[in-house]
Parts: sequence; C-alpha cells; structure tokens
Amino acid sequence: MRVDDTPDNLDICMGNCGNCPSLPHPPAPFLYCSRGRTETPVNKDGCDCSGCEVFKRYGLEGAYFCAEGAPEAEE
Ligand code: SF4
Ligand code: SF4
Repeated sequence: MRVDDTPDNLDICMGNCGNCPSLPHPPAPFLYCSRGRTETPVNKDGCDCSGCEVFKRYGLEGAYFCAEGAPEAEE
C-alpha cells in the first residue's frame, strides 16, 4: 500500500527516523517511504523503520528508504 503523505505520518516519521543513527543530514524531506529518498548520501548504520508505526500500518517491507527510495506499492 502506498504510504500517504499526511501530517500525522510525517510526525511519526520525524519521531522515528529522527532518532535513527543513519539519519542523513540535512534530513529533508523525511517520510522517505512516501516521498522517496534524500539527495544526501546515507551512512548505513542501522535502520529503525521496522519499529515505526507507519511501517506496520502500511505493511511495508525493506529498509533504508532514505537511501533506496519508497517501497514499491502493491495493490
Ligand atoms: S517507515 Fe521509516 S521512512 Fe517511513 S515513516 Fe516510518 S521511519 Fe519514516
Ligand atoms: S529510512 Fe531507515 S535508515 Fe533512513 S533515517 Fe529512516 S529509519 Fe534511518
């Protein structure tokens, strides 16, 4: 399911990605599972997405959306 770009989901992401050791700097645009990857190079020191409420709610798979982009949406 495609992740909706909503203020609620952005808030959840900022609380989750915001504490991740791999968070790119600058971190824009956040909500990488919806908005896609950052232009900033990412040092992969672990990904906290699997513990995220958005990740669970949308049944996502994978990790490092900040580096790899949004997951493929399944219908
Ligand atoms: S799954 Fe990852 S990228 Fe998506 S909202 Fe959660 S922490 Fe952010
Ligand atoms: S997408 Fe994953 S690796 Fe990237 S900042 Fe969010 S939790 Fe960390």
